[in-house]
Amino acid sequence: MKILVTGKGGREHALITALSESLEAHELFAWPGSDAIASLAKRVDAASLPELIAWMKSNAIDLCVAGEEAWLVKDEGLANMCEQAGIPCWGPYKEAAQLEASKAFAKHFLKRHNIPTASYTVCTNAEEARAALTEFPIVLKFDGLAAGKGVAVCLTREEAEEFITDVMEKRIFGAGNLVVESCLIGPELSVFASVCDDQYHILMPARDYKRIRDNDQGPNTGGMGAVASREIVTPEVLARIEREIVQPTVKGLIADGLRYRGFLYFGLMLTSSGPYIIEYNCRFGDPEAEAVMPMVRGDFANYVFQAAKGSLKPELLTFAEGWSICVISASAGYPASSRNGDVISGLGKVEGARVYHCGTKKNEAGQFATNGGRVLAVVANAATREEARAKAYAETDKINFEGMQLRSDIGQMHFD
Ligand code: ATP
Repeated sequence: MKILVTGKGGREHALITALSESLEAHELFAWPGSDAIASLAKRVDAASLPELIAWMKSNAIDLCVAGEEAWLVKDEGLANMCEQAGIPCWGPYKEAAQLEASKAFAKHFLKRHNIPTASYTVCTNAEEARAALTEFPIVLKFDGLAAGKGVAVCLTREEAEEFITDVMEKRIFGAGNLVVESCLIGPELSVFASVCDDQYHILMPARDYKRIRDNDQGPNTGGMGAVASREIVTPEVLARIEREIVQPTVKGLIADGLRYRGFLYFGLMLTSSGPYIIEYNCRFGDPEAEAVMPMVRGDFANYVFQAAKGSLKPELLTFAEGWSICVISASAGYPASSRNGDVISGLGKVEGARVYHCGTKKNEAGQFATNGGRVLAVVANAATREEARAKAYAETDKINFEGMQLRSDIGQMHFD
């Protein structure tokens, strides 16, 4: 089978590695891919989505797997365009991908289908937003692209007013509405499912660590690490999440005529009154994919291929027992900025863990160097959380580059 994955980061490196370890050998392609991914998948050179679709058609690609989310809502949408070209695609259609692309769309969907979520008001201007500040802390979310900076959890009215001025008056992110929602309290959890029309399959749960510094201090990042294990949640809590969140979401998609085939991420908060949904992502998380993919057993490529064609077969995929811990190393200046070109040493010394490349590039001497904010994901698996943590950090210690930043508490949990 010829399989193409869209994207270039650590998540795609992990997905492509899992596809390459499927039962049968497949010919793998990546668009745009990266220098590290190139050792597993041929990089496709296409300047736009229509060009990519034309390339896939003329090269008889059997399956397209969506990694990065942006393409799902670009032009007519990756999945919609694949369908027109007769190529099975694992990734939702443009209409359903609004669940991630628009926070207001997602909130209206949640409310319409009685799925537990924070109460909210969608405000079109600063005046409305100020009038909605009725409690503190309060959460403000810009409904548009904001490079990960569009959400503010505000402890005081002053903080909230300042965010409203920046976003709704100075328009630092451009035009768009503001969602004002009540603040939930509790540990966060990422649950992933494969959704295929009216069928679903819940995958291994995970947790990511968003802030740059230990103990969840400092600014938000794309994710400084992740932990994955069946043991993160009890079967009772997972059953409740399935009943109260996953099932009504799948039914809601069908009721609203939103066609969905792909991974669906449920960003949850486990509050004292039960699980609440904070956000949907219409693809696998990054860095959660790096933690979950090494635990995949079975025939991943065939599982995805069948599901993309409309037949979800959970029996094709199982997950290893135990724990998986992913430690991200980031470049100097991240998350405010990032530094490219710092040469990475020690990659060849890593033995007891997998290394996925999030943002690297080969320099003229053929050495891997930093190329972005998040640089590498080092992932270790073990029977216990403590062992996996020790291994992940011991292997990360072998790697070095100037300005390397990492958290030392990845894998520590809220119950520690
Ligand atoms: P992501 O990078 O996860 O896609 P995002 O910009 O889409 O982030 P959200 O996931 O909606 O934004 O929110 C970012 C973070 O803000 C959450 O992970 C959570 O920690 C916090 N947050 C969001 N909504 C709430 C809420 N209602 N109550 C408390 N905290 C919240």
